[in-house]
Amino acid sequence: MPETHYGRVLIIGAGPAGYTAAIYAARAGLQPLLVAGLEPGGQLTITTDVENYPGFAEVIQGPWLMEQMAAQAGNVGTRIVPDVIVTVDFSARPFRCLGDSGDTYVADAVILATGAQARWLGLDSEQRLQGRGVSACATCDGFFYRGKRVAVVGGGNTAAEEALYLTHHADRVTLIHRRGALRAEKILQARLFANPKIAVVWDSVVEEIVGGGTPEVVEGVRLRDVNTGTSSVLPVDGVFVAIGHTPNTAIFAGHVAMDAEGYVATVPGSTRTSRPGVFAAGDVQDKVFRQAVTAAGTGCMAALEAEKFLAGDVAVVAGANPDTGQSRGQAPGPDARAPGTPRSGARDQASLVAD
Ligand code: FAD
Ligand code: NAP
Repeated sequence: MPETHYGRVLIIGAGPAGYTAAIYAARAGLQPLLVAGLEPGGQLTITTDVENYPGFAEVIQGPWLMEQMAAQAGNVGTRIVPDVIVTVDFSARPFRCLGDSGDTYVADAVILATGAQARWLGLDSEQRLQGRGVSACATCDGFFYRGKRVAVVGGGNTAAEEALYLTHHADRVTLIHRRGALRAEKILQARLFANPKIAVVWDSVVEEIVGGGTPEVVEGVRLRDVNTGTSSVLPVDGVFVAIGHTPNTAIFAGHVAMDAEGYVATVPGSTRTSRPGVFAAGDVQDKVFRQAVTAAGTGCMAALEAEKFLAGDVAVVAGANPDTGQSRGQAPGPDARAPGTPRSGARDQASLVAD
């Protein structure tokens, strides 16, 4: 039987941004409801070593860090729900979001913290061979390549880390990059170049992932040198695609303004979106930094801005009758100026236009 859940603040997403927003919102007495999605803990659950999250002198594990954040959010009063939001309605307050379970989530303010996910090359052979040698997660699948040869595609931090991690399993790791310089941090580049198991193929794109055998598995990658146009096949047993991420914003299209790449647009220096009362934090709105600590930082900002937005507001949801689903208070219209929102901020926000 579908239920309706009420919260003063609804947080969509259980990564560093969502959990941090939850910790601050709960400590502000906003009794947040957090819907965790398909990947509770977010992207850090698919990595191993984290050595740049402040507060830990020794290297920590990504999944452990996220377990700690979840426990902290729960301990201060967040209600964490295992559901996936499939549609949203931000046209009027209280906002309503529908979960895949059939449950409805109703809140006076919403924090979007749905993060991002791995991007694929878009080759037919890549899709066909997924799970048969094609992966986007070395920590998940690297174990299967003990003593084998693998390729990693990409030139960013993820590609460098995946390549380094894979040297713990594979005999030979070839990093394939489409340009002549990596964008990975210098410290990772230094480790990569110093590792005798890693070779780099520069200025090359993957034209096809070559399969063979029955059942078909990866046997190589066909590469094209972008300078000479020549093609060659590199024999490998596995291909790890590490070419970046796409923000998880499809469900918000048309409800809040986004940029050309689908990142939620926020007022500079703020987490406010084009819709008063809807805030965005973490990778869902950040294509520049995309770090756990920046996601956590903007999660904090979103909760503080939601608190300010709600201050002095009619507690529409808090006053709702959970049995009937009827609100006792009168919800302000979607264009009402957010309580606590400075007039200049409101003007900035008006310049963000939903598609
Ligand atoms: P995410 O971590 O992406 O979490 C998104 C959350 O939203 C998930 O819980 C998901 O289930 C949920 N969600 C999505 N859609 C829905 C929906 N429809 N309904 C409900 N919930 C939904 N950063 C560092 O600082 N240090 C590192 O060492 C580091 N290593 C990394 C290693 C790898 C392999 C990767 C991929 C990234 C790494 N990063 C690292 C980057 C870091 O993980 C991200 O910047 C950070 O996780 C972003 O946090 P987030 O909360 O914005 O989103
Ligand atoms: P990224 O920084 O966007 O890098 C993507 C890489 O893939 C780039 O080198 C890009 O090439 C290449 N690429 C993109 N599309 C391609 C295509 N179609 N074909 C071939 N190559 C393609 O993504 P990321 O490495 O996943 O990192 C994402 C964010 O997470 C970054 O902010 C990063 O700092 C962060 N992160 C941090 C850590 C850490 O701090 N330890 C670890 C992992 C990730 P070009 O260079 O030519 O554009």
